[in-house]
Amino acid sequence: MKIAVVGTGYVGLVTGTCFAETGNHVVCVDIDENKVNKMKNGVVPIYEPHLDVLFERNIKQGRLEFTTSLNDAIKDAKIIFLALPTPPDEDGSADLSYILGVADDLGKIITDYKVIVDKSTVPVGTADKVTAALAANLSTDLFDVVSNPEFLREGYAVDDFLKPDRVVIGTSSEKAKKVMGDLYKPYVRQGNPIIFMDEKSAELTKYAANSFLATKITFMNEIANFCEKVGADVDMVRIGIGSDSRIGKRFLFPGIGYGGSCFPKDVQALAKSGKEFGYDFQILDSVMDVNEKQKTIIVPKIKDFFKGDLKGKTIALWGLAFKPDTDDIREAPALYIINELLEEGATIVAFDPEAMENVKSKYGDKVTFVEDRDSAIVNADALVIATEWQVFRNPDFDLMAEKMNQKVIFDGRNLYDTQEMKELGFYYNSIGRILVR
Ligand code: NAD
Repeated sequence: MKIAVVGTGYVGLVTGTCFAETGNHVVCVDIDENKVNKMKNGVVPIYEPHLDVLFERNIKQGRLEFTTSLNDAIKDAKIIFLALPTPPDEDGSADLSYILGVADDLGKIITDYKVIVDKSTVPVGTADKVTAALAANLSTDLFDVVSNPEFLREGYAVDDFLKPDRVVIGTSSEKAKKVMGDLYKPYVRQGNPIIFMDEKSAELTKYAANSFLATKITFMNEIANFCEKVGADVDMVRIGIGSDSRIGKRFLFPGIGYGGSCFPKDVQALAKSGKEFGYDFQILDSVMDVNEKQKTIIVPKIKDFFKGDLKGKTIALWGLAFKPDTDDIREAPALYIINELLEEGATIVAFDPEAMENVKSKYGDKVTFVEDRDSAIVNADALVIATEWQVFRNPDFDLMAEKMNQKVIFDGRNLYDTQEMKELGFYYNSIGRILVR
């Protein structure tokens, strides 16, 4: 099949590459010339495990191309995926200007039947808006609009795309249903479902999934905060409730709040959609409030430890990305922590395996960046852990004891065993667990 993918970010590039991998011909189009030039030169512009191998192979075999011309990208395509940004507008609703702008352009240049697919996360009713934008200049016989939300996780994007738990396809057109079913067939050979539904239900499924997961994390964060008050251990509570199959073991790890480009904006957008349609999502308002506080929950703990004064203190910061295995720093809790620590007059020495370039461009020399984990802790008065990269799980505690000014760790991701930290003589403050001092 011939496919065009509009927008080559985390979703578009993975989508395009993975569709090429099963033998389709894919042209990816982006307005960012710099990015397109990089990709034409064989450079993957984002960090995403395993993407480089597929990217290289499919370019070499002539199935994956890049352009800045929308017209060139779509002229032979049967299916056009819109993998465009839907950032929060000033009022928290999803900004549809990228999607509707491209839909408008497409309406002017399409000359034969095409399936236009909303791959971006978009509010209920967007397929209708895209249809209207196309129909302003194009006969409705020449297109169908499908909602096909993406559930991939950054860091596992390629695996998630190649073996999805499910594929959700929202369409009322039998013709589009057949095209989409054929396209996705190779990805569900193990028996996971392709779930066909109407466009609105598909649009809402994505928001419901992300909002549910954000709520689950937030609930555990509140349980963890309460554990600290009463001297309970959230790890025990987590295992205790997670073994109930109605609850499940996953997504129960407390921490310093959810971040990233999806959960914060999607929870906000669903709450906003609710208000537009006269429904008050009280639970989502609470989730957003709690998460906002959770992102910086570690800073008052650090301040308490240093008796309220962080001026002249050197804080080592491990982890900047919003989660491991990505260079994405959008809404990353680490950035909130950096802002507060800088305001308190602390010096920050940071390390992240993949996200440092993105943070450097935001903070310049306000933060010192070092090239490896162990350089960050030299002469540090405390270590803060903000992202659970694997490389932080087994550090050299002897080296830490030797190089740090004080053996003090604030762990936002609960990486270490509290008993072990006690034996090693560290002050160890984690989330929802016994304070070790
Ligand atoms: P992104 O910001 O990484 O990428 C968007 C790309 O679109 C950029 O490369 C940008 O240059 C390009 N673009 C903007 N305007 C354009 C135009 N007019 N023509 C061509 N290209 C244009 O975004 P993303 O993270 O890939 O997310 C895209 C959508 O997918 C969003 O709605 C997001 O909510 C959703 N989504 C994201 C994830 C994720 O993990 N990142 C997962 C599922 C769904």
